[in-house]
Amino acid sequence: MNEKQFKTRAIVIGKRNWRAEALLFSLYTDSYGLIEVVAEGVLKIQSKLAGHLSSLGIVEVDFVQGKAFKKLTHAYLVEPYEIKDEADYTFVNIIFELLNKAMPAEEKNEFVWRLLTRVLPRGLGSAIEQKKLLLNMFALQLTQVLGYEVKTGNCARCGKELSAPYQFKFEEHGFVCLSCEKGGHVLSQNAYELLIALNKKDLQDLQARKEANEELYRFVERYLNYVFERKWGSWEMLNSE
Ligand SMILES: [Zn+2]
Repeated sequence: MNEKQFKTRAIVIGKRNWRAEALLFSLYTDSYGLIEVVAEGVLKIQSKLAGHLSSLGIVEVDFVQGKAFKKLTHAYLVEPYEIKDEADYTFVNIIFELLNKAMPAEEKNEFVWRLLTRVLPRGLGSAIEQKKLLLNMFALQLTQVLGYEVKTGNCARCGKELSAPYQFKFEEHGFVCLSCEKGGHVLSQNAYELLIALNKKDLQDLQARKEANEELYRFVERYLNYVFERKWGSWEMLNSE
């Protein structure tokens, strides 16, 4: 029987044991979004697939659609990304945790693929501050894609143009003015401006003040916890030295 082969570029974002001699890989792909594929025989020494799937980077994969699972038939690492230290490792884990837990299965999203393949190589080997800036951007843009954009510009209740203090109300996914209500998670002027910049999808060169970036990093963590109703274990592991 000739089974139809599917081809896509992918990044391996997770794996777990699967029956005897098999692993179940979680892939974020160019053509199919988040998918799971079974790879048989990869635990054998000298398995050709294993080498290409165990490295971080862009992999070209082929798979067939079985009855219950997609089965990997080919994998070739085309663009490796190098992990240099523990901070790199944590950075990658944060991104993979977000994709694994937040993205819907099997929905192609070219924007998320581009974001992922831009953010990963830029963060690896960079300073902690740069990593946090990229993570702030990644998380804010991912929440946008998923319909939870952090709204800026106008009061979420009355529509009046916002000015300091910038009081964020989690249940509104936006800021409210002083006339509407007092309180909420207050962001400084610099952190608020950085948030607006990172929300834009056409961002080129990232520059940010350290304090504003750090402040926003703590805010984004709270926002992610709120929106997805779960604690993101890896987020706080990236600590400034
Ligand atoms: Zn208002």
